Amino acid sequence: MKSENKNLIGLERVKKWLYAKDLAQRSSGCVLCGSCYGHGPANPMEDTPGPKEKCPPYEFYRFQRHTPKSRWLMSQRVFHGLDPITPELKEVIYACTNCLMCQELCGVRDDGYGPWDITVAMREEITEKEGPIDAHRPIYHGLQQHDNPWAIAESERGAWAKGLGLKHLTDASASTLLFAGCSADQASGQSGAIALAKLMQRAAEDFVILGKQEKCCGLYAFDLGFRREYERLSKINLATINNAGIKRVVVACGSCQRIWREYAKTPGVKFEVMHGVEYVERLIAAGRLKFIKPVNKKVTYHDSCHLGRGCGVYDAPRRILRAIPRLQLVEMERNQRWAWCCGGGGGVPEADPELAHWCATDRLREAGASGAELVLTSSALCQRSFADLEEPALPLQDLLEFVCQAL
Ligand code: SF4
Ligand code: SF4
Repeated sequence: MKSENKNLIGLERVKKWLYAKDLAQRSSGCVLCGSCYGHGPANPMEDTPGPKEKCPPYEFYRFQRHTPKSRWLMSQRVFHGLDPITPELKEVIYACTNCLMCQELCGVRDDGYGPWDITVAMREEITEKEGPIDAHRPIYHGLQQHDNPWAIAESERGAWAKGLGLKHLTDASASTLLFAGCSADQASGQSGAIALAKLMQRAAEDFVILGKQEKCCGLYAFDLGFRREYERLSKINLATINNAGIKRVVVACGSCQRIWREYAKTPGVKFEVMHGVEYVERLIAAGRLKFIKPVNKKVTYHDSCHLGRGCGVYDAPRRILRAIPRLQLVEMERNQRWAWCCGGGGGVPEADPELAHWCATDRLREAGASGAELVLTSSALCQRSFADLEEPALPLQDLLEFVCQAL
């Protein structure tokens, strides 16, 4: 996202990447290389072979129209007025799980834009012209009415912190904010926020939370194409931390991390953004947290798309696990940059539940094949995605919740 384009919405926002008619605005568009979905090497600039499977909806449907390349080309035709927005087009555009693999692979995205940005811009275009699709309407209204994608009213939010004795920003101050994320208001997404708070307390860190006043970071608004809602939420969240003099935001969810990093690029703002795993790794390195109890287990770690490809955080979770005596960490075949998506992002669980289910099942099958007894995650979105499976191949747990047993 470029700061000069902040007020543009939809395909106008990315027109430079859609071969705009104005020559001065042109940039390199899709060159049809196929790197974002083909089973060949990662891309011509990579030394590594990359993963065989790349784009989840393409692997699920196996139709060309479900490739990132096709999304780019279809959006281009809409931009030039050659095609209308059809139900078939929407089906394809909303099957993107926002896994960011195409961004990682596309060789022409040298300036922060890529096939995924075009997909998001196309969603913005659809929202502007027709409003949200039916499957995403509850999320849209939840954000508009309650600043929460699950439509949880302010009076019912923040229950995850009950009984922990944490300081609230409304009646206390500190330079560090623990941002729990909207998933902490759901049963499947609470454990990460609770564990992070306990670890920070254990290290005697001074921090505050927002509790009931916490509003969505805007992840759903950004990824589902509700650009106006995203801009509104980002302004509120930035004003909150600026007014309170917050210098560091520690987030409990990998997807919130991606959005808070976007906030941090806003001109004139200055604060540090870290995920809980990065923060805990720092506390361990400083000797303020020590794992003394051995844990006789074999575990594997699932890299969340947004924390991994979105923010480049791969080492911190692995270093934390290696600091635990007797714990064995085994890797899945597709890990780090090439980790397979759990299917939980991009509004796909709502718009295409079969695809979301297939992604999560395939990921846990792979986790089982690694020989691990347990899968660890650092994202509440992934946690929810796996928790939705009726018969998961392996049990799963939030990484920070898991490591608490070694203190
Ligand atoms: S973000 Fe992921 S799912 Fe979406 S088009 Fe790119 S590779 Fe496919
Ligand atoms: S979107 Fe990028 S990686 Fe995919 S075909 Fe086009 S240029 Fe190649």
